[in-house]
Amino acid sequence: MTHSASAYPYNLLEERPWLRLAARHAERFLDSLPARPVAAQASFQELRSALGGPLPEDGLTPEAAVEKLASGAEPGLVASAGPRYFGFVIGGSLPAAAAADWLTTAWDQNGGLNATSPAVAAAEDVVAGWVKELLGLPGGASVGFVTGCQMANFAGLAAGRHAVLERGGWNVEEEGLQGAPPVNVVLGEEAHATVFAALRLLGLGSGRARRVAVDGQGRMRPDALAETLRACAGPTLVAAQAGNVSTGAIDPLDEIAEVAHRHGAWLHVDGAFGLWAAAVPALRGHLRGVEKADSWATDAHKWLNVPYDSGIAIVAQPEAQRAAFLKRAAYLIPALSEERDPHDYTPESSRRGRVFPIYAALVSLGRRGVAELVERNCAIARRIAARLRAGGVRVLNDVVLNQVLVRFELPAGDADAFTRAVVSRIQREGTLWASGTRWRDQEALRLSVSNWSTSEKDADRSADAILLAVKEEAERC
Ligand SMILES: *Cc1c(COP(=O)(O)O)cnc(C)c1O
Repeated sequence: MTHSASAYPYNLLEERPWLRLAARHAERFLDSLPARPVAAQASFQELRSALGGPLPEDGLTPEAAVEKLASGAEPGLVASAGPRYFGFVIGGSLPAAAAADWLTTAWDQNGGLNATSPAVAAAEDVVAGWVKELLGLPGGASVGFVTGCQMANFAGLAAGRHAVLERGGWNVEEEGLQGAPPVNVVLGEEAHATVFAALRLLGLGSGRARRVAVDGQGRMRPDALAETLRACAGPTLVAAQAGNVSTGAIDPLDEIAEVAHRHGAWLHVDGAFGLWAAAVPALRGHLRGVEKADSWATDAHKWLNVPYDSGIAIVAQPEAQRAAFLKRAAYLIPALSEERDPHDYTPESSRRGRVFPIYAALVSLGRRGVAELVERNCAIARRIAARLRAGGVRVLNDVVLNQVLVRFELPAGDADAFTRAVVSRIQREGTLWASGTRWRDQEALRLSVSNWSTSEKDADRSADAILLAVKEEAERC
């Protein structure tokens, strides 16, 4: 059905059938999550044909457009918001957070300025305080709400780049890096790919970073860091990690902060999911010294279970974050207010009210609920590891948080090939989905327990499906 302004078939203000239709599709999808196959049921090419064809000359009604999108996309949806998706590190959406995200869309606020949405600016101010408290970070730090940990790493390192160059009298925002004193960048061997992408965007080069040796769980070794820093003169950035994607291990931050600061370096912590362990009293010890860093990056769309996309960049010295991102131009004069202008802390200028789903997630959980969510996922990770170990599977990591790394071996034969075959059998079978990966030059399967709705029953069903895949693949060999 096509429409023109004069021929709308319904009362725009009273009915809004397209919203109802979208809500119905959303509910149907959410209801399907516990039972549907976890992997997508259609290929890229099939989806391309279903969604594609020439752009229609005349537009559809809003309902017809929603219907076309929903029916075309449905077979290609991954149940990554569901309870048995253990791939990468991907959280689901808490009910309150998903509902708040709908409201955010309906409100359609430009969250860049206090002038364009005081509601966004104020909610950011409130949530910033809550997040710092939950994560055990300094109350005076500044906070920017970005799209994910990729941009949070970029923002933290941008603030660091400003600070270390400013100490030598160089204004990198004004002068750029051409002619600037060289900036040393020091990372653990296990630094995340997004840290390298951030270095590329910052003009610091991903290939120039010095790599520091790690221990058997992937934690940066403070003695190796000290040795590397002794060879570095001048402005220096160090990036540590809280939560290795393979093992869940957290760098020894207390010692790293001591070493980094003794050498006058800026310390950034990539804590996409691991920083949330600070919300759990029993796990806080893993993060001892975290508050001594200069900047921190984390995700809300992983362990806090808000819908994509949502990351948080936190900087101990607000001046450094503001120096990196302050936006001032004549047309922005109304922004010169005492209140927070959200875009002064982020690379983006215009942006959605990304903070609202975080607000809803936090108030729906409360302090205790955040701790319980993190703790429950860790307990389920230990449960899966124990059940797999009992079934003869080799667990490669110390299961300290929510990540479980396993490898499948036969009495004789190529364990890499066997592991790959078991991983693809698990992924095809559909009870669960987990990522194949390489750890220390060995093929492995990585499970990340990051979803609020994953139960012990889901854990047992998933472990049993893995053990069955091992058995079936072994029989084939
Ligand atoms: C997921 C992750 C990132 C990247 O986060 P995005 O949400 O994809 O932007 C960075 N570092 C670590 C350790 C991660 O686990």
